Amino acid sequence: MKKILIDCDEVICDSGFLNLLNDYLKSNYTIDDFTSYFIEEDVLESEEEKVSFYDYIKDKNPYAKAVLYEGAYETIKALNEKYDVYICSSCAIDIHGLKEASGQFFKNKYDFLIKHFPFLNVNKFVFTGVKNIFNADVQIDDKFSHLQSENIPCKLLFTSYHNKMLTEEELKQKNVVRVNSWADIAKILL
Ligand SMILES: [Mg+2]
Repeated sequence: MKKILIDCDEVICDSGFLNLLNDYLKSNYTIDDFTSYFIEEDVLESEEEKVSFYDYIKDKNPYAKAVLYEGAYETIKALNEKYDVYICSSCAIDIHGLKEASGQFFKNKYDFLIKHFPFLNVNKFVFTGVKNIFNADVQIDDKFSHLQSENIPCKLLFTSYHNKMLTEEELKQKNVVRVNSWADIAKILL
């Protein structure tokens, strides 16, 4: 069975940091207002503001209002019949005191995944920020820097606010193919 690594945030669901940022700022930003991976970088200018925001999110659950992307459930269910599915997702944030809060983020993500994908094998949840150490047949991620392994023949970049500016040429150089939806993924893998 072919092995597939599937990222969680901004691939399976929105990670909820937009909601937290809007709650914090009492703003109405939408995700397309941002281009930086860490969205707060685009709107919080001083270090003090960022530290205050990180302080605010420490005990919040980013998955409380997270929404599954269209087709994610159905496609992952079908992939799980055909592939050896691993969820490969980062939870630890080692900035401004969030290191201590990261354990809670792990739990939030784990709870979110078992609630929405009860058919997945929890022994195949891999929580790591270092993704270039794995061998697999397929990897799906929204972060281009996570798709750099030469050991993975099929690498799919899930279109997201922070990767839209990457050109086809840049993707081609790293043997990465862009997908815009779970329907695109189904077409390639199912
Ligand atoms: Mg992601």
